[in-house]
Amino acid sequence: MNELEQRVAELNKLLHEYGHAYYVMDNPVVPDSVYDQLLHELIELEAQNPSLIYPDSPTQRVGGTVLAGFEKVEHTTRMLSLSNAFNEEDLRDFDRKIREAIGEQVSYVCELKIDGLAIALRYENGVFMQGATRGDGSVGEDITANLKTIKAIPLRLNEPVTIEVRGEAYMPKSSFDALNARRAEQGEELFANPRNAAAGSLRQLDPKIAASRNLSTFIYSVGGDAEQYGINGHDEMLSYLQALGFKTNNERLACASIDDVLAYIEKWTAARPHLPYEIDGIVIKVDSFAQQDELGFTAKSPRWAIAYKFPAEEVMTTLFDIELTVGRTGVVTPTAILAPVQVAGTTVQRASLHNEDLIREKDIRLGDTVIIRKAGDIIPEVVSVVLDQRPEGTTPYEMPSHCIACDSELVRIEGEVALRCVNPACAAQLAEGIKHFVSRNAMNIDGLGEKVVEQLLREQYIADVADLYTLEVEPLLALERMGQKSATNLVEAIDKSKTNSLERLLFGLGIRHVGEKAAKILAAEFETIDALREATMEQLIAIHEIGDKMADSIIAYFDNDDVGHLLEKLQQAGVNMTFTGKKVDASNIDSFFAGKTVVLTGKLTQLTRNEAKAKLEALGATVAGSVSKKTDLVVAGEDAGSKLAKAEQLGIEVWDEARLVEQFA
Ligand code: NAD
Repeated sequence: MNELEQRVAELNKLLHEYGHAYYVMDNPVVPDSVYDQLLHELIELEAQNPSLIYPDSPTQRVGGTVLAGFEKVEHTTRMLSLSNAFNEEDLRDFDRKIREAIGEQVSYVCELKIDGLAIALRYENGVFMQGATRGDGSVGEDITANLKTIKAIPLRLNEPVTIEVRGEAYMPKSSFDALNARRAEQGEELFANPRNAAAGSLRQLDPKIAASRNLSTFIYSVGGDAEQYGINGHDEMLSYLQALGFKTNNERLACASIDDVLAYIEKWTAARPHLPYEIDGIVIKVDSFAQQDELGFTAKSPRWAIAYKFPAEEVMTTLFDIELTVGRTGVVTPTAILAPVQVAGTTVQRASLHNEDLIREKDIRLGDTVIIRKAGDIIPEVVSVVLDQRPEGTTPYEMPSHCIACDSELVRIEGEVALRCVNPACAAQLAEGIKHFVSRNAMNIDGLGEKVVEQLLREQYIADVADLYTLEVEPLLALERMGQKSATNLVEAIDKSKTNSLERLLFGLGIRHVGEKAAKILAAEFETIDALREATMEQLIAIHEIGDKMADSIIAYFDNDDVGHLLEKLQQAGVNMTFTGKKVDASNIDSFFAGKTVVLTGKLTQLTRNEAKAKLEALGATVAGSVSKKTDLVVAGEDAGSKLAKAEQLGIEVWDEARLVEQFA
């Protein structure tokens, strides 16, 4: 077998396995996007090499097989699948081919692609007789007893017609959430998504189970010749089905052009999260039955319809490398370096791996194929490894034993998951410490980006944060990409920071466990750094918000001779060391939000906008309408758009709603 033949065989095997898990077991082993990606690859390879099309290739067959335990139902006409479109180009291509085949007079009907499972319902003289799954397209499973439990399915129609209809059985989001919550409580395995939950419910031998699952249906077509009922097009058919008593989906739209179709897609891409049921795309069908007949079918799907699939939130890619960075406190953080891949509309090349434990737990290895998710459309993470795609000869990933920056031995502090470099002179820690010192919530010195800080250290302009105050314009001009204007601005910004109130300096020094809030409390309480330096353990822990751990760390910090020396240098440079800030309202001083500017964006689901705003303001935050450099925090709800993008661009901290609610608690 040559390489191409091998790949085709491998794709057939994988898709068969994944398809079995999905269609037969209702328990997918990879996300849909991964399945689609592989299927797409196979379609392309087969198109170029038709001799490699296996008769049972997943491109040639529909769905899965029939489960034992159910009667078989032979479909009068095959129940098909739909070919897929993933972007505008695919859709324009679809439109072009149709116009080439049948001329310019085309009207489309757009519908939501309900993420459930296809069903066929047979009525005789208006009475519900039999309901079946799609199965392999030709033969399905008789699930009549289960379908009878669904209230949206009429047992008797408004007219005594004999008809077979097709549609989608689905589980509303609310039923799905309730079901999984119940299962979690009982320690049962959770369903991956409402589609699998619906399929799993309908393929139970005991109808009581289906009855308890609160399923519903949308009916979208007539099986066989619909023209016998005097209808000539899809839109008309949907109205007819509704008149017969079926539940049809009301969001459909007749579109005269592909541009109208694209506008419909855009609308539902944004509105999708607000629907009470899951959709995974938009189905576009040629309206006229006469034109549908002219266009005909491929082996697997009609040529007159296409399913546009929404951009995947979970995709598969290769992990090339694991990059390690040493943070300000010496913590070593691993990041996955990935083959660039589109996730939920943006290109992702890096994903956080958090710590060594996570790498070990998921057994992530170099060269692995991994599944990436952009959780809540925010931060990309590695969900899992696709084990059956693991290259041969890999070994479990080992974290280095020594610091990548200073080569001193890394340690794991008891009770912590992180590996840490404990060398206080470590160059990487120093650089991070300086970046922290100048950051917006600390000394707020503009113009000292990562590259500049690294150059200043490398060229030995500075060795610690106090040295920043000795910088002058002239020598700075020798640095890369440093013009007269930026050098002048930088020196001015450094100079301006000398007058900052004490809490900024305290936070900027990076004393372990002393965050922004604690810095504020300490500065307001002791007012000068000298007073704080002399504070005893008792004095410190007497402050409500200061615990033993933080007090210990403060005392140890000021006990250190190097620190004494650094503070002296800062003092001589003229850096203010007293509290000149506003005394924060006592009721708010312990609020994380005190003095912060917060922007809310996207749709919140647990709180209304106004509730969130009122709460934030009560806790001392200012809630602003737009994102700027002054913003401290952006809370992104569902479907957050341009404000979230701007926050990411400006490097502003972004929270999801759950985190906000947690902080309120
Ligand atoms: P499809 O995506 O090809 O679409 C056809 C189906 O769409 C129809 O059978 C029908 O059930 C449904 N549909 C929903 N709304 C509709 C509407 N308004 N009009 C017409 N049809 C509508 O579906 P498929 O052939 O069942 O399977 C492919 C899907 O299954 C893909 O989404 C794929 O990712 C997924 N899959 C996933 C795995 C996995 O391992 N995760 C394995 C196999 C298949």
